[in-house]
Amino acid sequence: MPDLKQKLLNMQRQLGLTPDEVRQRLRLLLMGEPGFDCLAAHLPALDRLHADCIEGLLAHLNSIEGSAELLAEPGRREQLQVLQQGYFQQLLRGPYDMQYARLRLLVGLAHERLGVELKWYLAGFHFYLDFMHKAINRHWRSEPKLAEQLYGCLLKAAFFDISLTADTHIAADKQALQASEDRYARAVRGANDGLWEWHVEDDRLYLSDRWLAMLGLDAARAPRILSDWTALIPEAQRGSFLAALQAHLDGRQAFLHVECQLRDSWGRLIWVMIRAVASTDRQGERLLAGSLTDISQRKQTEQALAHQALHDALTGLPNRQQVGELLSQALQRQAKPGARHAAVLFIDLDRFKLINESLGHQTGDQVLIQVAKRIERCLRPGDHLGRFGGDEFVVLLDDLAQPHDAELVGKRIMHALQYPIVAGSRRLAVSVSIGVAPMKGYGDEQDALREADLALYRAKAYGKGQLALYNDSLQEEATQRLNLENALSEALSRDQFELYYQPIVQVSAGRALVVGVEALLRWWQGERMVPPDEFIPVLEESGEIVAVGEWVLRQACTQVRQWHQQGLAGLRCSVNLSSRQLQEPGFADRVAQILKETSLPAASLVLEITESLLMRDGPDTLAALRELESMGVRIALDDFGTGFSSLGYLHRYPLHIIKVDKSFITKAPNDERLKAISRAIIGLGKGLDMDVIAEGIETPEQMDFLHNEGCQFVQGYWFSRPQSAAAIHPVLQRLSVIESPETPLLETSAATAIVQ
Ligand code: C2E
Ligand code: MG
Ligand code: MG
Repeated sequence: MPDLKQKLLNMQRQLGLTPDEVRQRLRLLLMGEPGFDCLAAHLPALDRLHADCIEGLLAHLNSIEGSAELLAEPGRREQLQVLQQGYFQQLLRGPYDMQYARLRLLVGLAHERLGVELKWYLAGFHFYLDFMHKAINRHWRSEPKLAEQLYGCLLKAAFFDISLTADTHIAADKQALQASEDRYARAVRGANDGLWEWHVEDDRLYLSDRWLAMLGLDAARAPRILSDWTALIPEAQRGSFLAALQAHLDGRQAFLHVECQLRDSWGRLIWVMIRAVASTDRQGERLLAGSLTDISQRKQTEQALAHQALHDALTGLPNRQQVGELLSQALQRQAKPGARHAAVLFIDLDRFKLINESLGHQTGDQVLIQVAKRIERCLRPGDHLGRFGGDEFVVLLDDLAQPHDAELVGKRIMHALQYPIVAGSRRLAVSVSIGVAPMKGYGDEQDALREADLALYRAKAYGKGQLALYNDSLQEEATQRLNLENALSEALSRDQFELYYQPIVQVSAGRALVVGVEALLRWWQGERMVPPDEFIPVLEESGEIVAVGEWVLRQACTQVRQWHQQGLAGLRCSVNLSSRQLQEPGFADRVAQILKETSLPAASLVLEITESLLMRDGPDTLAALRELESMGVRIALDDFGTGFSSLGYLHRYPLHIIKVDKSFITKAPNDERLKAISRAIIGLGKGLDMDVIAEGIETPEQMDFLHNEGCQFVQGYWFSRPQSAAAIHPVLQRLSVIESPETPLLETSAATAIVQ
């Protein structure tokens, strides 16, 4: 039992139990006096009395609650008898030396460990002394002097034991207390907390050293009463601390748990957590005892996290969430009578995606930071700028004298961005589109944002660098657009699309011959046929144009191949492409696949692209067009003249056909300028060895004009409106017959026959 041995040594050390100490105890009890050894001569008689005493003691214990149960355990009584007998023998035999004393300590420790309390010992000794007093007097009745002497010796020996036993108990208790105190002190040191105790009735504070050290205070400057302490709490927080304290004292709160700031001796504010529970001490006094923890670091982290959560990492501006919060605060102010005007500006960078993709995200980031700075310079203190995500910013203008001022701020922002932005070694021209919505005193922040966003949508629709104001019709339009989008998203699966075809005709020597058809998409929304201008932009925006476009291509190829087989061999199939389709990876492969599936020769396919598609191109566009060209597919530049009409495109891209936009043709015969432009475009195409198709031919005058300009290919209502496959077939058949030279094609009556 190494643990017990160690304990014994500790105990011995604690009691200072050395041979000298043992000797001193013996001297104190006069055990060295002559006569003490008279015991030795009467031990056998005394042992017999001991036996009676043990019987009596056991009988006594048996009558006492607590010990009776113990004695009832099997074998326990006999065990105690033997133990007790051995002990009594030793008690009177000694020798009373160091060894004897250690044995006593050991027994004391063992009992203490079993939880035998001191009162049992003392009661036992009392019983022993009382019993032996009477027994000795009875036994040595005839020799009262001897009896007295013997009892005196027995008393000394017993007291020697009692003192050792009592000391063991007290020391063990002390040790346990010390251990608990040590543990407590260690825990407190480990927790690094300050401790405090406040005696409620007499307003007395006890503060631990650590408590004081946390605030840089020493004992001389330690707060002595509660108000000394609360004076260190900033005024704004003091009330809630006192309220929490009172709530706990009143029993309304189970604990006192407050986080607040305290001013330290250098005047700095540190964040602390104050905890305590109320109790009553032994004197019946109420007191609050608890701890003080420095939580400055945690608070700092929390504050940093809170800032991060509400701010954009790149620009440091309030983020979407914080903007929402600011808006709802502004709305609350708006709702009050006499509030000044407020407005929301939704700002979006034009072409930012292009900057990001072509110059890299780092440059993009720099642009965003610069733009944010420039916008900020246009605002007054009290206005707010937030980054809503990506290239979107939101400005909240509070306290406007009149609603119109918001528009002025928007224009100021546009003006501030007129000058190029320097990002790295580049100077970049950027522009923004802005949607402005006045804030009303009702609705929520989402309404305000939505309205500004709708206005922005309108601004974007006008083109780049525009500003638009919100009005209620925008909402109406948005709802309609949404309905349209929803209906459109199901149109393909519901088979609501149909292709119409319009002939492309070659006119030479006054004869018309159909050379191809342009497939034009129609959407049947119930009975209503929706024109492509209404729904193609929506399909492009949602990205569904890719799937629909593929359907168009397959459908048109299948149809034209069928016409080939029905005798219209060589008929070309023109299909309009959207930029999204051409940007799809592997687009050329898809085209090849469809041609294969439908058995349409590549040379019969013409893909019509627009200038806007080339303007937005990436490196992939050129590659895809080249691949298509190498397959034998021809590319037409549609609506030429309506965009930038860049000659660079004609040179850079593999283009085979130019389609002169109908806006020129419509007015050309009567408008000298348009005439000149049309003439130039036709000449340009011819010069570049490209076919030129004039669109939108409606009248014989237009035909005449084109004929004179040598434009051979034409398309327009004059020959036929776009019609369904079934309806157009007879028209195609008629136009495929080379008419006899005597039949002038341009004769109005003949043409009218074909026009539907
Ligand atoms: P576009 O490619 O320039 O097609 C020619 C448009 O001019 C057609 O309008 C046609 O009906 C119209 N048109 C033809 N001759 C005349 C005429 O003599 N007078 C007048 N006033 N108009 C004439 P539509 O069918 O409404 O198509 C409009 C545009 O929608 C097309 O212009 C094309 O850009 C686009 N589009 C049509 N189908 C598709 C398609 O399948 N995919 C894609 N991406 N766009 C398509
Ligand atoms: Mg076209
Ligand atoms: Mg066109």
